[in-house]
Amino acid sequence: MSTSQPVDTIISSTEEGLLIHPEEFVNTLPSLQYQYEALCIEDVCVDTLVQEYGTPLYVYSKQAILSAYEAYENSFAMIDHQICYAVKANSNLSVLKVLVEAGAGFDIVSRGELARVLAAGGDAKKVVFSGVGKTKKDIEAALQAGIGCFNVESVSELELIQKVARRLDKVAPISLRVNPNVDAGTHPYISTGLRDNKFGITHEEAVAVYQQAAEFSNIQVVGIDCHIGSQLTEVAPFLAALDKVIELVETLQEKGITLEHIDLGGGLGVRYIDETPVSIADFAEALLPKLQALNLKLFLEPGRSIVANAGILLTQVDVLKPTAHKNFAIVDAAMNDLIRPALYQAQMAVLPAVLPSSLGIDTYKCWEIVGAICETGDFLAKQRLLSLAVGDVLAITGAGAYGFVMSSNYNTRARAAEVMVSEDQHWLIRPRETIEQLFAQEQALLS
Ligand SMILES: *Cc1c(COP(=O)(O)O)cnc(C)c1O
Repeated sequence: MSTSQPVDTIISSTEEGLLIHPEEFVNTLPSLQYQYEALCIEDVCVDTLVQEYGTPLYVYSKQAILSAYEAYENSFAMIDHQICYAVKANSNLSVLKVLVEAGAGFDIVSRGELARVLAAGGDAKKVVFSGVGKTKKDIEAALQAGIGCFNVESVSELELIQKVARRLDKVAPISLRVNPNVDAGTHPYISTGLRDNKFGITHEEAVAVYQQAAEFSNIQVVGIDCHIGSQLTEVAPFLAALDKVIELVETLQEKGITLEHIDLGGGLGVRYIDETPVSIADFAEALLPKLQALNLKLFLEPGRSIVANAGILLTQVDVLKPTAHKNFAIVDAAMNDLIRPALYQAQMAVLPAVLPSSLGIDTYKCWEIVGAICETGDFLAKQRLLSLAVGDVLAITGAGAYGFVMSSNYNTRARAAEVMVSEDQHWLIRPRETIEQLFAQEQALLS
């Protein structure tokens, strides 16, 4: 994947709207290319997939997932490390299975995600459990499975883990998630390393909490953890957080508490349109000198940077509605399928499944790409210069992370199907929901 390609060769931002040059743009993504005029993912044309599975449809490239994972593996090869893929980014069993086979560990945030990892054949010992509000049931399930580490975010959680572990006669390995109070410079909803966030234990309190943890009979202190946010494009906030964490590691050492690992969380950003995130290799190169000096096993919890650009969402144009002020293209995917634009004002690229030049027309207009849901916030992309006709298939790129997993049944809409592609093969990895399934569990109480 090349993020080094100059941005102005792939997009033009005009007063009328944003023009994404499809052929140049896909060159910056793994596994997507136009073969003749048709958009293909690996060696499968998206039209084939639409004909077989319908729309809206999530499609993931196995090779793209693997190459992002391997970029982490290779970049950190010179130190002891464990890459724990953040399951919440995309938790389909087939996605997990691809990563299990590659040797990944997993970062989970619920016992539901733990069940998925185990169902996909994942090794519980390579699982770390993050999250600010673990329940008794979560902790029980994780202890029974024998996970590698709980990333603890409060004294109250520490006490609960101690209590549950004691009852089950287990020893719980733990890290404390410290909040290094650094500004990740990302969207406020996905920034987690600031003092005012709900996440982690403050730097000031951390030593005392570690000392408390060391006294508990059924707790074993094994590491330290931080996660400062998501979609970070620069390495500086990671370095700042690492410095703060190293300071703590040294203080703890002086107090007789020695750790086995340091977990720097996830959060590395990706290019959605014109972002220029630091590459995984450069990220590693910047961190490695400090990590080598520290000599602890490194854990990382990347989610987005492994799956985002391995996935696309295919959708069909149902209605074109030009108005005096704006032109609306109403597509069959909506905010219930892909909420990132509505929730985070995220910008994602929208590409034609077939290049318009082949249609022999030159009818670019500025379109608002919207869903059919009864919310003004239901948009997928704003002000895009595209040449559209009813029935056209569009691909929203960067949809492999925080896409399907955040989808809902709002407006009683069945969730999309998911497909995995590898070379010239494709598999349905989750069928489209049926309308009947949506209310099969409900009771209509009669008076
Ligand atoms: C969400 C999350 C991750 C993954 O973040 P990405 O931005 O997807 O890499 C990792 N660790 C924790 C604790 C998280 O909450």
